[in-house]
Amino acid sequence: MKIKQLPTGERLVKRYRLGRCFAAAWAADSTVEQLALDRERERGRETEREVKRLEQVAWHALATCPHVRTYEVGSPAGFTGSVAVWGQTDENRAAHGGVRVQEYCPTCRCSRAVNINMWSREVSPWTPDPEAIARES
Ligand SMILES: [Zn+2]
Repeated sequence: MKIKQLPTGERLVKRYRLGRCFAAAWAADSTVEQLALDRERERGRETEREVKRLEQVAWHALATCPHVRTYEVGSPAGFTGSVAVWGQTDENRAAHGGVRVQEYCPTCRCSRAVNINMWSREVSPWTPDPEAIARES
C-alpha cells in the first residue's frame, strides 16, 4: 500500500494561492451575477409600479370618458357566457348565442366585452385594458 505524500513547503503555498485565486474569481463572478439579478428585479419592480400607475390613470379617465370613439380589437370569439356584471350592466339574453367581441376606447385606454347576436347587444363594464397598458409601460 502506498501512502499519499502530503504537500509541503512551496507546493503547499502554491496550492493555497491557487485556491484563493479561484475563490476570488468565483466571488467576483457571483457578485456580477447578483448585480445583474438585482438590476433585473429592480426593472421588474419599476414596470410593476408603472403598470399600477397607468391602471390608476385609466380608472380616473374612465370616470369622465364618454367613450365616443371606440372600435373593436382582436377577432370575434364565440359566445362563452354572459358578460354583464350584476349591478353595473344589464343582462340581455337575446344577445346570447352569437359572438363576443372586445371594444376598446383609446381615449381612456379601457375596454369591454360585448356579446352580439343579430341586433341584440350585451355589454360588460369598462375596465382598464391590460394589453394597452402593457404596451405603454
Ligand atoms: Zn373611454
